[in-house]
Amino acid sequence: MSSKGSNAAIDTIAQETHDGPEAGTLTDGFHLVIDALKLNDINTIYNVPGIPITDLGRFMQEEGMRVLSFRHEQHAGYAAAIAGFLTKKPGVCMTVSAPGFLNGLTSLAHATTNCFPMILISGSSEREIVDLQQGDYEEMDQLAIAKPLCKAAYRILHAEDIGIGIARAIRAAVSGRPGGVYLDLPAKLLGQVMDADAGEKSLVKVIDAAPAQIPAPAAVERALEVLKNAKRPLIILGKGAAYAQADDEIRALVEKSGIPYLPMSMAKGLLPDTHPQSAGPARSLALKQSDVVMMIGARLNWLLSHGKGKTWGDAPKKFIQIDIEPKEMDSNVEIAAPVVGDVGSCVQALLAGMGEDWAAPPAEWTEAVYTKKNTNIERMAPKLRNNNVPMDYQGALGVLRTIIAERPDAILVNEGANTLDFARSIIDMYKPRKRLDVGTWGVMGIGMGQAIAAAVETGHPVLAVEGDSAFGFSGMEVETICRYNLPVCVVVFNNGGIYRGTDVNPTGGPDVAPTVFVKDARYDKMMEAFGGLGFHVTSPDDLKRAVNEAMDSGKPALVNAVIDENAGTESGRIGNLNPQSVVSKK
Ligand code: ADP
Ligand code: MG
Repeated sequence: MSSKGSNAAIDTIAQETHDGPEAGTLTDGFHLVIDALKLNDINTIYNVPGIPITDLGRFMQEEGMRVLSFRHEQHAGYAAAIAGFLTKKPGVCMTVSAPGFLNGLTSLAHATTNCFPMILISGSSEREIVDLQQGDYEEMDQLAIAKPLCKAAYRILHAEDIGIGIARAIRAAVSGRPGGVYLDLPAKLLGQVMDADAGEKSLVKVIDAAPAQIPAPAAVERALEVLKNAKRPLIILGKGAAYAQADDEIRALVEKSGIPYLPMSMAKGLLPDTHPQSAGPARSLALKQSDVVMMIGARLNWLLSHGKGKTWGDAPKKFIQIDIEPKEMDSNVEIAAPVVGDVGSCVQALLAGMGEDWAAPPAEWTEAVYTKKNTNIERMAPKLRNNNVPMDYQGALGVLRTIIAERPDAILVNEGANTLDFARSIIDMYKPRKRLDVGTWGVMGIGMGQAIAAAVETGHPVLAVEGDSAFGFSGMEVETICRYNLPVCVVVFNNGGIYRGTDVNPTGGPDVAPTVFVKDARYDKMMEAFGGLGFHVTSPDDLKRAVNEAMDSGKPALVNAVIDENAGTESGRIGNLNPQSVVSKK
């Protein structure tokens, strides 16, 4: 081992083990983990320190890695997960044993569900005690618990296996359909000592961690045949397409095909939302009336009504699906033309197969889509320009929409119920992977973790648009944002409650209704408490001034944006998922 830090650590070991080999010839588990990660170009760690990984984090920093400490493991985990999405390398979250591990597990499961590559590294207590259930400090059989919630789970027991263990974790996370991997490091492993030369030789550099998966020529031909015969074709781009970083090829395919496209929320910006072929504002019509739908890195899950029912209309439909995961095909409806492979390779093959004389779809269809889109855009425009006090979602988001148009490199993080639903359709995105949100689960709590990782991984400014309830899940991480002085502007849409701030306790008792928060809360003061900028605004004009000032400053900032407490709807746009009681509400 060459660097100063390692030698210092080795000296320490040698001093402590007086009768051991000479200083400079030994390494240990701590340093093998670090060297293995660095060898594979993993240089950023999202963690919460504690037993038994505190020193691991210290040594990592000493060895030049970026070690970001959070206030709660779940947010370190959400940061790692979205880092994976943004970089195509596994984001690494590191936690202590049992409770810290469990806190991180939520985000590991989230990463797996969303197909983001992530590795959760947790320290664990002694195997001998855990396996005999003798009650160790933070005892838990973490490996067994993690297994069903992630793509792969490994435990390393011997220092000489660290290289292989980390290589397996990296490969499992990024190859095929990406996902979460759990890596269990018992405390004893970190202190294990071995010869430095042998240690170095035991490390593994992962070659071609996510090999290209070329689609079968027959599958490509079949897909083109289906597409050619379509009268009303539609392309749906999902976050798998955004993840693939095949931006130019995807744009070329959409443009050459002449087919209208719909971006799923995290695929927005893959082509700019202002692109003439975008069907975003005509979503309902496009889904209902299309006859052939080509899915690119998007699943027919609940977010697309499982590919059937009212949303999709009565007209018979044929699906083409491009996905790296063969088992995704026919998951909800029959797929007429499955194309299994990585998005980049599949899109290239389709482009090549289209040849020079590909005919655009019938003008009757494209005009119907674009006419509907323009009508909807015109209908929305005046609402987005309103300067009402108290603010409604349209007035407030109209302002943020302009800000993103003027700052297309900024990354938008978005969560909430109404805050999410309205922002998704109102705020246009212009570049790939600039919109990060609640993902496949529609989970609340991703906000600050994603904002931190977005700033750290890309260096670009971040605008986090948060419902007041959603913000609450990760609000303490504003201290983390301030500690690392990140260019994150958080806007809290404060309507004083979950969905709305107006529910009342029907019994007249002293407790407020279950969906109601403290009235007139000042979230801006939370940011000020840690040295960031705070703004309190009640009108769209003031919101615009505050966000521009915050983003120009490049400093951590929080804008408390007061929204009409009557403005939202129950559960945003997915109120239909709430079960109904047969006994009516009083
Ligand atoms: P959205 O929610 O945006 O519709 P999903 O998360 O449902 O997107 O779907 C993403 C899909 O993309 C998953 O089925 C996943 O297997 C697939 N995917 C992820 N990465 C790639 C890739 N590089 N190539 C092909 N498919 C991919
Ligand atoms: Mg709210």
